[in-house]
Amino acid sequence: MKIIHSLNHLIHNPRWEFTRGRRIYSKDIPSRATIIREALLASDMSIDLVPPIDQSIGHLEAIHGYVDFLRDAAATLDDDAIIYPDVFPIRRKVNRPDHQPALAGYYCFDTGTPITRHAFAAAKASADCAITGAQILAQEGLVYALCRPPGHHAEREVFGGYCYFNNAALAANVLAEHGRVVLLDIDFHHGNGSQDIFYASSRVLTVSIHGDPAITFPYFSGFADERGDGEGLGYNFNLPLAPGARAEVYLAALDEALSAIKRFDPLFLIVPVGFDTCRGDPAGSFDLTTRHYPVIASRIAHLGLPTLIVQEGGYRTQNLGKNAVAFLQEFRKELTG
Ligand SMILES: [Zn+2]
Repeated sequence: MKIIHSLNHLIHNPRWEFTRGRRIYSKDIPSRATIIREALLASDMSIDLVPPIDQSIGHLEAIHGYVDFLRDAAATLDDDAIIYPDVFPIRRKVNRPDHQPALAGYYCFDTGTPITRHAFAAAKASADCAITGAQILAQEGLVYALCRPPGHHAEREVFGGYCYFNNAALAANVLAEHGRVVLLDIDFHHGNGSQDIFYASSRVLTVSIHGDPAITFPYFSGFADERGDGEGLGYNFNLPLAPGARAEVYLAALDEALSAIKRFDPLFLIVPVGFDTCRGDPAGSFDLTTRHYPVIASRIAHLGLPTLIVQEGGYRTQNLGKNAVAFLQEFRKELTG
């Protein structure tokens, strides 16, 4: 099984700094990806670990309006500098400002996704993993893009939620040239970025199972009545679940999602996966355990579609590795025999 992974993520290690001298690291720490990679290599799966192709910036510009801003802002910083936006254009339409910190608040929707000297390079390498995966998917049948930083919260015009570029949406944009694509987002959080990017599209069906946004990040999207717009009406499907959702409830929602996907009759499937759905994750509240991931993988793989799995969240490092192995091993077994 091909795994696309770039070691460039290691240069991205954002931290939250507080004025009283307390320093807290972001939950998106480099060891997340390292733990998953090492667990896969130590498993009995036959792994072909390959670096991504350095993709053209045009892929990013095709769906994001802030590529130049992020690249230029990162380039101005020295090693220790961090830009955290602290002023946001809330509830008003504004023209693009010229200066920091207004620019950061114009393009970033939260205070958890800082710009550092290395943020652009790491995010570009992560995006390259997903795009490369999309480019080889037709001949491979199953590819896993081990992306970090994650991507599914990055919208067309704003980034946030630890995400800079929407890795899975970039892959979907490549595959949509060949036929209908489904994004089945099974991270604990709503894939607001992917929903935003394809909200008016009937070529990419976006489906997301996630914690109820009434009480869960990203709060302002992910509700069941968000169904798409214009040509895309009916091509966005949200399945929010209450906190503490147990496996029976989760699997029933998954079956509903899979029925909608079958009706859409896609050519390709992309699965942004986050193991923050696991019990005890500091960013999640579902009650899934490691033994449930093969069940989830098996049901999705039964669609029998060429599938690109894209890594999103998952922050409990103790079980990230075994959850990733449990999920991918079963997925490969079901899909490729
Ligand atoms: Zn998440």
